[in-house]
Amino acid sequence: MEEKDSSKDRQSQPEQVDSAEPPLVCSTQSQVFKNKFYPNATPEEWGDWKWQIRNSITSYEELSRVFGSSDYEVSEDINLPLRITPYYASTIQDPKGPIGRCVIPTKEELIVTPNEESDSLHEEQYSPLPNLVHRYPDRVLFLTTDFCSSYCRYCTRSHMVSHHEINKKMWDKAIEYIRQHTEVRDVLLSGGDLLTMDDSSIEYLLKSVREIEHVEFLRIGTKIPAVLPQRITPELVSILKKYHPLFMSIHFSHPNELTPEVKQSCERLADAGIPLGSQTVLLKGVNDDVATMKSLMHGLLKIRVRPYYIYACDLVPGTSHFRSTVNKGLQIIAGLRGWTTGYAVPQFVINAPGGGGKIPLLPEYYLGQEGNEIKLRNYEGKEFIYREN
Ligand SMILES: *Cc1c(COP(=O)(O)O)cnc(C)c1O
Repeated sequence: MEEKDSSKDRQSQPEQVDSAEPPLVCSTQSQVFKNKFYPNATPEEWGDWKWQIRNSITSYEELSRVFGSSDYEVSEDINLPLRITPYYASTIQDPKGPIGRCVIPTKEELIVTPNEESDSLHEEQYSPLPNLVHRYPDRVLFLTTDFCSSYCRYCTRSHMVSHHEINKKMWDKAIEYIRQHTEVRDVLLSGGDLLTMDDSSIEYLLKSVREIEHVEFLRIGTKIPAVLPQRITPELVSILKKYHPLFMSIHFSHPNELTPEVKQSCERLADAGIPLGSQTVLLKGVNDDVATMKSLMHGLLKIRVRPYYIYACDLVPGTSHFRSTVNKGLQIIAGLRGWTTGYAVPQFVINAPGGGGKIPLLPEYYLGQEGNEIKLRNYEGKEFIYREN
């Protein structure tokens, strides 16, 4: 009897040790911001992700209280409602600066150009279910929620965010679809943002998908570590690591996002054996120059996130002011490749409008073939020949 009891005790030990881990760091920048704009919030509240979601900036009154101007007042028919976590707001030094532009609405959103359309990727065409996109032969995108903790003004899925349409019944249907489609070896769980849900919902989804034998690996697509690092609690991490192989693709936009909080949240995930990749949208005036991207990619490697994709900005209605050029994207790749480690060089892709999927683009390194001679150009612009046999 006694022995059984003590073994029970030992089993519950790891959880106790995990939850005894100190709370997430709070950087000086966040503390100063909190004291100024949320003086009544305790440090515990500030560090609590649910407090962060409950107190997110969702109205224009709040926006002007924090950023002190009425410049941001735009009409009600903007494409995307407003939502910014207090933590993410604390990283915004200038509302017109790089991070501010990503989440603060402007009148420019009211301009819709002829090339833009809602659901520009025609995902609906590849959706056997409203919350499942089966675009590629061996993998699916599972939209688990339409809630997100911060609304990026250029969001590809802005047409579905916060419509409150995804429910548990739909989860189970998607899980059943995956179960029946044995060609699906890779499930990407995204949304909205899966990590805005409570631990038990996340565990339900991971467990259900993991139980399907032909699913070889799971991925979570999220912006949470950047906008709400407080969500990466030891409890959540201990759930995630039960479902390996589990990868995570994290949306990052600018080196200013890489705060001590973000560093710690990524370290917790990496320590749990979760390979971390980054996804970045190329955005005009935010990150569309070599120096900013290089600093972002180097910063990501330092917090153990491997740069994965840079996307050309999708043709989402009201995003023309964010669109840089494809040429800039190519210049950025040319400015990284060879000049720094290949680990810091993501793939630059265009998600082809109309449902073509991701198409990779490279600067011209391959100049063509004549007979057995392959003409090449290196990162410095020097030409070389590679002879086959
Ligand atoms: C990006 C994407 C994926 C995943 O693509 P990877 O290249 O494997 O990262 C899967 N489905 C859809 C619809 C996507 O847009």
